[in-house]
Amino acid sequence: MMDFTGKVALITGGGGDIGRAAALAFAAHGARVVVVDIDEEAGLACTNAIEEHGGDARFVRADVARSDDVRRYVQASLDAYGAIDCFFNNAGVEGAIAPTQDYDEAMFDRVIGINLKGVFLGLRHVLPVMLRQGGGTVVNTASITAIFGGAGMPAYVASKHGVLGLTKAAAADVARMGVRVNAICPGPVETRMMRSIETQRNPADPVAMGVAIRAGIPTGAYSTPLEIANAVLYLCSPLSGNVTGTHLMLDGGRTATGGAPSPNRIQENMK
Ligand code: NAD
Repeated sequence: MMDFTGKVALITGGGGDIGRAAALAFAAHGARVVVVDIDEEAGLACTNAIEEHGGDARFVRADVARSDDVRRYVQASLDAYGAIDCFFNNAGVEGAIAPTQDYDEAMFDRVIGINLKGVFLGLRHVLPVMLRQGGGTVVNTASITAIFGGAGMPAYVASKHGVLGLTKAAAADVARMGVRVNAICPGPVETRMMRSIETQRNPADPVAMGVAIRAGIPTGAYSTPLEIANAVLYLCSPLSGNVTGTHLMLDGGRTATGGAPSPNRIQENMK
């Protein structure tokens, strides 16, 4: 059921930590993979890693916030492999960390442009391909911040709330036509993005910031990119056959406990 042999997986942000893990996982399960990223070096590193493991992959440099680029990466996928079976609509940026009352307008537009409009453009141009094919699966990358707010990230939080809205809207539009659209909502993941957030929140001691963030996660740990990739593969596989329009929280129990501290932290405080 997790065999993607003969399938084509298209992944945006495939040069990043989560996208690369998903690209490698799809390839390991037999898929041919199209990696899209604005960062050519990172994207090629991903496709090279897939090829070194005997897989088949192509890289397309594109900015997901530009419709011409999105049309181009969709066409490049079709030219290379003739289909798009699985679409991991994943590219995103954290943006600057600053309170809403101080947030830079251009930064707001940039984060919304990539994280929200980029996801819309991906849906806008990939769904018609899947409808013509008579099937396909989409996973949009939202975040725990699609459910909760969080100080200092107004654009990011708004964009990820929007990604969940798009997921529900698009899922309803294509549900009767063999296409499923779901979202993942990771909490903190061991990635470049979390290193950036830790550093922005506490430039003097990012490691201490990481310790403090982990203390708020019931399991006490960030997720790994592979754990996120495994959830993406599940949502793209027949194992999730009738699942659409929903989201998976991948957050070490944070949502379930409303952000309460981890059991270890409670024990430490009781000493
Ligand atoms: P990352 O920075 O490692 O990867 C993001 C990738 O997207 C990078 O390779 C980057 O070059 C690419 N990208 C950025 N802007 C782009 C654009 N305009 N066009 C094309 N590509 C672009 O971060 P990641 O942690 O792998 O993030 C992947 C997704 O997961 C993002 O949507 C992020 O918001 C989301 N997410 C991450 C975490 C986390 O803790 N890391 C948690 C929740 C959600």
